[in-house]
Amino acid sequence: MTEQPSEKKLKYIDSHCHINSTLRENKIETSLEEWEKFYKTFPDSFECCINVNFTPELIENGIIYTKNTNNVYSGVGIHPLNADLWSEDVKTTILRLKKEDDDTLKNNNSNNIKDTPNRIVGIGECGLDYSHWSKIEKSIQKQVFIEQIKLAHELHLPLIIHTRDAEDDTWEIFEKHLPLDLEVHIHCFTGTKDFAAKVLEKYPNVYFGFTGVCTFKSGKNIREAMEIVPLNRILVETDSPFLAPVPFRGKVCNSGMIPHILKVMAKTKNIPEEEMYQHCYENTKRLYKIP
Ligand SMILES: [Zn+2]
Repeated sequence: MTEQPSEKKLKYIDSHCHINSTLRENKIETSLEEWEKFYKTFPDSFECCINVNFTPELIENGIIYTKNTNNVYSGVGIHPLNADLWSEDVKTTILRLKKEDDDTLKNNNSNNIKDTPNRIVGIGECGLDYSHWSKIEKSIQKQVFIEQIKLAHELHLPLIIHTRDAEDDTWEIFEKHLPLDLEVHIHCFTGTKDFAAKVLEKYPNVYFGFTGVCTFKSGKNIREAMEIVPLNRILVETDSPFLAPVPFRGKVCNSGMIPHILKVMAKTKNIPEEEMYQHCYENTKRLYKIP
């Protein structure tokens, strides 16, 4: 019997989330055992997620979720709101974790990131945040951002960028420091259509991640920017525990809510939902080399 399109198995990857904070916000103990219970509440279409570890402590501890599970990959770096915590020690730790992965692959004669202990697939999130939350001097944020651009380039890993209320300075750093071919995920894109257009024109490997914000009534500008992002450069993410999509606004967000974001993305791009799932799924796998 031929499979009906509606029966086709949809799969998705949450390309950016924070497992530790999500468990904590749900008042659940932050452990691998609890995560394994928690993700079983997600829809069957959930395949895996990229857990972004953005402080020195999380970089050391957040990788517990990648051990012995099949559905977590790691981003490691320093968030602009924590830019004062960047140090040579942090860099050394990241290099060590990546080396553990590389050595494991070499010893097993494998190129499958699933076989590695830490599953480091990206550097970040890093960037600039000039919103009212920020207490860190702009000069420090810029320097720490540039350091992590260099690190991603050196390690041949995609760069995960967080930029908020800082488009002009982000662009200036792009022009001076971002290698043209570097693979980049601009996460939780809430920027302008003009900025997106500028980036798309110059950088062939930059992807735009959209969160629950695109489902908000107030997210009109974001949906307008999304309209110009080609389908092969678009990603879906939750940034959980933050930014739960409609109809969960005000609740703690988790990777199980992705279908609600994909629904709005499909509508915005005027394509069937299944196609939106497919594009985001394939783009995430291609960018982060997830098998
Ligand atoms: Zn994040």
